[in-house]
Amino acid sequence: MYSKSEMLFGKAKEVIPGGVNSPVRAFKSVGGTPIFMERAKGAYMYDVDGNRYIDYINSWGPMILGHAYEPVVKAIQEYATYSTSFGAPTELEIKIAELIVSMVPNIDMVRMVNSGTEACMTALRLARGYTGRNKFIKFEGCYHGHADAFLVSAGSGVATLGLQSIPGVTATVADDTLTAPYNNLPAVEQLVATYAGQIAAIIVEPIAGNMGCILPQPGFLEGLRKICDEHNIVLIFDEVMTGFRLARGGAQELLGIKADLVTFGKIIGAGMPVGAIAGPREIMENLAPAGKVYQAGTLSGNPIAMIAGYTLLQTLNDNPVIYQQLAEKATYLVNGLKEAFGAAGIVHSINQIGSMLSAHFTEYPIIDFSSASAANNEIFRRFFHAMLERGVYLPPSAFESWFMSNALTTEDLDQTIAAAKSAMQAIK
Ligand code: PMP
Repeated sequence: MYSKSEMLFGKAKEVIPGGVNSPVRAFKSVGGTPIFMERAKGAYMYDVDGNRYIDYINSWGPMILGHAYEPVVKAIQEYATYSTSFGAPTELEIKIAELIVSMVPNIDMVRMVNSGTEACMTALRLARGYTGRNKFIKFEGCYHGHADAFLVSAGSGVATLGLQSIPGVTATVADDTLTAPYNNLPAVEQLVATYAGQIAAIIVEPIAGNMGCILPQPGFLEGLRKICDEHNIVLIFDEVMTGFRLARGGAQELLGIKADLVTFGKIIGAGMPVGAIAGPREIMENLAPAGKVYQAGTLSGNPIAMIAGYTLLQTLNDNPVIYQQLAEKATYLVNGLKEAFGAAGIVHSINQIGSMLSAHFTEYPIIDFSSASAANNEIFRRFFHAMLERGVYLPPSAFESWFMSNALTTEDLDQTIAAAKSAMQAIK
């Protein structure tokens, strides 16, 4: 069933560390051979062995309207003939920046980069340059890319591989990273009191997606906003996952809470390598060449990436009903999954908001990294493989969110629910 993938994985391990270009793809925590993909269209991915999967990763978020979305493909094809890169400014960069500013609350300016990692790394440098302070607070189990400063108590692949400290990240760098449990305001207050006047930023996934999907408890983000206001700390919302996915204006719009800086990735590039930092003029103009906080990129604002992102964002901007449809599909799926797990007598805790969700196998609510870590990973592992065999592609780790696309039909959702029922009966 997976013989070509197995053969390719063997070859890949000879020339690529661990056989993959990003760790979670290696199926380390669920075991087995990663599936090598050949093509994808709409809600489906097709592997090199000819198997078809209903996709619940969607490239970890960007494919919100499904794979190979026709207008995006056409735009890329057209722009590729003009050149794949100029290394000089284009009008398109203004158009996408204007569109983003019109969609996202509380921002005046946007700087384009090439990944979510770059966006968060730059946002932190900018906050430090703006405040003249060194330390910052992040939350256990949140992931903000692989820049050194963020690889402390990180989620996503770091949590999946169970890494406590990362060789190569020096103690000097890590010392400036302060951590608190997600949803724990008193822990943040304590840090702010202990390091009074030294904290440049608090960075948070407003809805966490890198330890599974975890919702902020009422008052948590409001409390962070208040602390930041009182202590002149820059509040950074990492909306790499939530941006343009939960609403046109991301979590800021959905939850009605203002951030000082916002980072984006994934959807903003429609699957091309793009990230962005956005914020008010007063902070953003500290970036070079307007200001002294240096940041640059040979391929930043790349025309192919910009036209892909612009085309997708325009569609989302013009059709806000997409968000309602996605949320309805997610609720339908979650109800079906609950029924499937319940019928097999498997305890579960499902978190969902809009088109992001995750299932943990525990009777307790999942509100932070320790509750996520305490869930039954063995059931998750078996569930993952049973679903894969039934043609449903889930994230290969319990420390990741599922991302739904609007290409999913009710029939796809029913097939997924039927697969979950049969999978759970098989493994219970
Ligand atoms: N922030 C968040 C919230 C993310 O989910 C990710 C990636 N999953 C990143 C930052 C890093 O983005 P990238 O992988 O594009 O560098």
